[in-house]
Amino acid sequence: MNKRTRQLAAVINGQNTSDGAGVKLKRIVSQQQKNALDPFILLDEFGSGEPTDYIGGFPDHPHRGFETVTYMLAGAMRHRDHLGNEGHLRAGDVQWMTAAHGIIHSEMPEQENGLLHGFQLWINLPAKEKMKPPHYQEFAAEKIPHVALTDGSYIKVIAGEYVTEAQKISGPVTGITTRPLYFDVRLSPQQQLDIPIDEQHTVLVYVYQGGLAIGASDKVLKAGQLGQLINGDNIQLATQDQPAQFLVLAALPLKEPVVQSGPFVMNSSEEIEQAFRDYRDGALTL
Ligand code: FE
Repeated sequence: MNKRTRQLAAVINGQNTSDGAGVKLKRIVSQQQKNALDPFILLDEFGSGEPTDYIGGFPDHPHRGFETVTYMLAGAMRHRDHLGNEGHLRAGDVQWMTAAHGIIHSEMPEQENGLLHGFQLWINLPAKEKMKPPHYQEFAAEKIPHVALTDGSYIKVIAGEYVTEAQKISGPVTGITTRPLYFDVRLSPQQQLDIPIDEQHTVLVYVYQGGLAIGASDKVLKAGQLGQLINGDNIQLATQDQPAQFLVLAALPLKEPVVQSGPFVMNSSEEIEQAFRDYRDGALTL
């Protein structure tokens, strides 16, 4: 069968903002996209060598109705939650937290200086899983398959499968209904990479270093830009005279109503009000 290469449909520029206790970050996917990127709810990049930009961290706060994925490129973060999980995330580590019915946790830098750099992604859960018990998973960097390509290029397979004619490499994250694909890729200059993609998936590419040409177009995504790629079962990515580092994110859209308020993502405003009541009454974490 002939491959159909996805086309660039939209480019989103990350916006500088802050969250938690004054953590500076670039918000790439947010409520402004009005669920056009279903099932992706939020994507933040935090990256600074200036301690005042991150030292406040994210003290205790709740989540309900979705999953949070934290991926570290540099530095160290400590996670603690009401279930008693304690996680120490370092460069290359991934935390995959299914908040579902409810979790209260803190995410704090475990360093007083130096570079802290990473991503947080929120992926929605289907209605029937929003009130299930929460689930916490953590993967050390060495558990994440690292596929070497030519000339120092590579793909880290965090979730989903990277399939070529010669091999199939599966990430450690499995059993998620939206069948997410999460790759961290580095491409050397003058390289081209084709990645097979499920035709039904929402597909996003976020460039965090360098520049990346998308599909057959001559449109180049720059660092800090996210592209949405539509229609097809393949994505075609190419570098020009500089290397690129980027995330490839894909997942099955849920096609359900989405109502978000702060840390809660549900299907109706009644469910959001319930989440606030439950949090106030201590029932979020039962
Ligand atoms: Fe959180």
